[in-house]
Amino acid sequence: MQRRPLLAAGLLAAPLAWAQPEAAGTPPLAFRPEDLAHAARLRDAGLADGEAWRLVQQLCNDVGPRAAGSPGDPRAVAWALKSLRGLQLEQVRADPIEVRVWQRGPASARLVAPVAETLVMAALGNSVAAPEGGIEGEVAVYPDFAALKADTLEPGKSRAHGRIVFIDQRTERTRDGRGYGAAVPARSQGAIEAAKRGALALAIRSIGTNHERIAHTGAMRYELGQPQIPAFAVSGPDADRMASLHAGGARLRMQFTLNARSGVEVVTHNVIAELPGTDLADEIVLLSAHLDSWDLGVGALDDGAGVAIVSAAAGLMQRLAAQTGQRPRRTVRVVLFANEENGFDGALDYSRRYQHQPHQLVSESDFGAGKVWALRSRVQPQALPLMGAIAQVLAPLGVGWPEAGRNEGTPGPDAALLMRRHRWPALQLAQNGTNYFDVHHTVHDTLDRIVPAELAQNVACWAATAWLVAQSPLRLTAPPA
Ligand SMILES: [Zn+2]
Repeated sequence: MQRRPLLAAGLLAAPLAWAQPEAAGTPPLAFRPEDLAHAARLRDAGLADGEAWRLVQQLCNDVGPRAAGSPGDPRAVAWALKSLRGLQLEQVRADPIEVRVWQRGPASARLVAPVAETLVMAALGNSVAAPEGGIEGEVAVYPDFAALKADTLEPGKSRAHGRIVFIDQRTERTRDGRGYGAAVPARSQGAIEAAKRGALALAIRSIGTNHERIAHTGAMRYELGQPQIPAFAVSGPDADRMASLHAGGARLRMQFTLNARSGVEVVTHNVIAELPGTDLADEIVLLSAHLDSWDLGVGALDDGAGVAIVSAAAGLMQRLAAQTGQRPRRTVRVVLFANEENGFDGALDYSRRYQHQPHQLVSESDFGAGKVWALRSRVQPQALPLMGAIAQVLAPLGVGWPEAGRNEGTPGPDAALLMRRHRWPALQLAQNGTNYFDVHHTVHDTLDRIVPAELAQNVACWAATAWLVAQSPLRLTAPPA
């Protein structure tokens, strides 16, 4: 997924070209001047708005970690309902969802040979427990996930057979998260491939870009018909240590314990609020984030920031509507999804419940609190001039439209699920994620990582964009498949 240099170089020229009327024939679609002016007002007010910073502080300090089914989950739902009502949004509600959740228990790991050493580790979400007393075994080291997949599937012949598989997959630091996308299958599917080859368990180098001795959790899954083996991640420095011992020719042995419960029945909720539209009120402009977090940190970046950004953006639109009388034509709906981290239960419930409602847009803020640097779309080609016009409004915030007509944007994970299932059009406000995977799914996902001014830049982008999409002269649809 290399970006083409020619397009990347044309950052500002491209939107202008798209927005120009053609010399002859029908003029291209355009926003009304008063809508563009209101978008600029929202943008400028958003930059000065401290609401998102206030919200994320409350969520992290007063609620804290909020994995689905944990004590923080209902507290987060109650907080969200109160906060969205406080922003004067309407139709504020919580849609109940019955889910089966995974619960972490105590776990530990250590090297037994060639040296005795404690490892910093975290169980992966959905991992089965290890038997009482844990598991000890020889370690089969694979430099990356591809190397494991390349090992033989012939029964009993793989190096993995009867051993603890260790995948030393590294995560490349990138602005757009490409490095994470490339590395994460080692976490999500590693146990499937290891089990197919007769492994006892899976250990991975944490999927992350930091060098601190902390482990990154995250969801993994099993395949029907394959044995379910326990799975965990070790910190980067511990992975380095194991890799260098292995490179020196040592045979590694490891022992670990892992307690966890799967399939615990609970009820969680999507929290929803609206700024009702006027003449096109039945068409939905969906701004979303996910309310749940992993249990290790307080979910400041993942995804407290997103919750705060989209809530504050809708709150700002409501406040300016009350002041100026300018209400959106379409309904702006904020959705704070349940259990994105370990099952997408919120997105799946929303998909069932609202599938028949026309969606003008799906979008999600779930990439931390870094500044937005690019607008990307996934809309029908006729709407591209409108996307270019939105990019022009965002340009003073440092936002470009680097891929212009390529139209291959991907919204956040819940919105992407909805986009794929229903062929709903989507927008992505791409954030700078250079440092995001330093803290993602770790004990370091804490409030101090957020720069309030960068959070406000996000609110400015979201409010202006949501407004223009709500006012669009064209009903957006997805690009042809
Ligand atoms: Zn997230």
